[in-house]
Amino acid sequence: MNKIRIGIVGYGNLGQSVELGIRQNEDMELVGVFTRRDPSTIKTVTKGVNVFTMDEAKQMTDQIDVMVLCGGSMSDMPVQGPEFAGLFNTVDGYDTHAKIPEYFAVMNKNALEAKKVCIIASGWDPGMFSINRLYAEAILPEGNTYTFWGKGISQGHSDAIRRVKGVKDAKQYTIPKESAIEAVRRGEMPELTTREKHGRECFVVVEEGADKAQIEHEIKTMPNYFADYDTEVHFITEEELEKNHHGLPHGGLVIRHGRTGLNEEHNHVIEYRLDLDSNPNFTANVLVAFVRAAYRLNQEGVSGAKTVIDIAPAYLSSKSAEELRKSLI
Ligand code: NDP
Repeated sequence: MNKIRIGIVGYGNLGQSVELGIRQNEDMELVGVFTRRDPSTIKTVTKGVNVFTMDEAKQMTDQIDVMVLCGGSMSDMPVQGPEFAGLFNTVDGYDTHAKIPEYFAVMNKNALEAKKVCIIASGWDPGMFSINRLYAEAILPEGNTYTFWGKGISQGHSDAIRRVKGVKDAKQYTIPKESAIEAVRRGEMPELTTREKHGRECFVVVEEGADKAQIEHEIKTMPNYFADYDTEVHFITEEELEKNHHGLPHGGLVIRHGRTGLNEEHNHVIEYRLDLDSNPNFTANVLVAFVRAAYRLNQEGVSGAKTVIDIAPAYLSSKSAEELRKSLI
């Protein structure tokens, strides 16, 4: 069996996790990691991984079947995505929800021109949550869908706290409100405000002599990030942050409550739950499963950008259609 030859573009949390994810799949092999940094400064998680500059990728189009793009969504992906879409089949976890339509358009254009398949916005949200929202809404057209995130670390909110004057380091947890989840599960179909759905808990290390009251005020009133939430701020030491908050857990719930029937009404609840010990490890494994889909679709002559909902589930599995029918259907 020819293995799917994979490259990783960008070597942060997600890139490192993709390296580990590939090792769990026998039909895949890692050709190398591509970085903007000096390759000789990169220490890979596992031994013997080749590290290349981004420029070297252009010379390797015949050595790599699928590139997994692991740059940051805010500023890396809008540049790296379209560049690589013109050269390779790609899979990425682009998660700036509001900009997905414009990102899709440019990726689609470049992928069609290059006759490649580019799967965008994979991961868990967007990604697995999107698929589950779609299934639930298609099956129960009359109803409401709710998404809750957490408990987990939000990198964006942690970064926002770190930008406050006097803050040395910080971690922010997004916490879903149990009362809201229970109301949804009971089928009350509540109209929930932002504040009623999630709370925010911040663990903050400050510089010596910093004004804690002022920092707390600035965090709690920060527009877009904290102002619309019940926010708790805890000041802790650097050691406590390292010891108790070093991981990257996350997760959440997609719940749809729907009704069927005419004279007699029936209530149905669909719930999809993720409880992730490591957000990057899980996200990477989703991306790696979609690598298989990008590769196979391209082998079949398909090209263009796709999102996770455009892809039939069997394309994700290493098992044959026959095996899947036997074991899962
Ligand atoms: P990181 O900040 O860890 O990495 C982003 C980029 O920064 C890397 O590609 C790397 O590029 C560079 N970088 C990483 N570490 C260093 C360092 N020590 N010094 C200098 N540069 C560094 O981001 P994550 O890997 O955690 O996340 C990537 C994206 O994944 C996020 O922006 C998010 O949008 C997305 N994501 C999507 C999810 C989903 O469900 N769809 C879930 C989770 C994340 P280079 O090697 O070129 O320097």
